[in-house]
Amino acid sequence: MSESFAEIAWGLAAIAAEFHSRGWVLGTSGNLSAVVERDPLRLAITPSGVDKGALQADQILSIDEDARMLSSSPGKPSDESPLHVRIAKEREAGAVFHTHSVWSTMFSDLHFAEGGLAIEGYEMLKGLEGVKTHEHREWIPILENSQDMWKLADSVAEILKQHPHAHGFLLRRHGLYAWGKDSRQAKWHVEILEFLFETLGRTRSMDRIQ
Ligand SMILES: [Zn+2]
Repeated sequence: MSESFAEIAWGLAAIAAEFHSRGWVLGTSGNLSAVVERDPLRLAITPSGVDKGALQADQILSIDEDARMLSSSPGKPSDESPLHVRIAKEREAGAVFHTHSVWSTMFSDLHFAEGGLAIEGYEMLKGLEGVKTHEHREWIPILENSQDMWKLADSVAEILKQHPHAHGFLLRRHGLYAWGKDSRQAKWHVEILEFLFETLGRTRSMDRIQ
């Protein structure tokens, strides 16, 4: 049985609180969405300008495929809604989660010139959908940041086509986008990618000290 909007909203608020406690969506940063209906596309999404540590399920909004608000409740959908819609469409994702963590922000800048970041050889990679061995090489594309979210959504669609096996991408000096077939899998993907960024970052820092 498919989940109701209320159940999806409750789940998003719980995940937002968890991500906030990990320091991945501090202040009003980051946003989370989940598909409520596929055709026509309808997404549940976190509102703009709300503290993710205090977000309540009844603050979650509903938007259509043009990122237009369908809810009558107060609040404004996240400015980054066009990106969520585009990823949900391009990847047929059931949920799209976006974090502003320290490590993803640092790597998005450090590796921008190469167009992405490769991570390979870690057991944790096996938590990503379709990955069967630690020998997998995960390529995480990095895009230039923009405040024009519709233009950025077009760039995202292009990158997703170029890298059909990517589980996430970074926006420069901004943060991570990851997705999954449902909220549970999208959450795992964020947790795994954030773990790998932190592991790589801490390993590099220690290498410099030694
Ligand atoms: Zn953001």
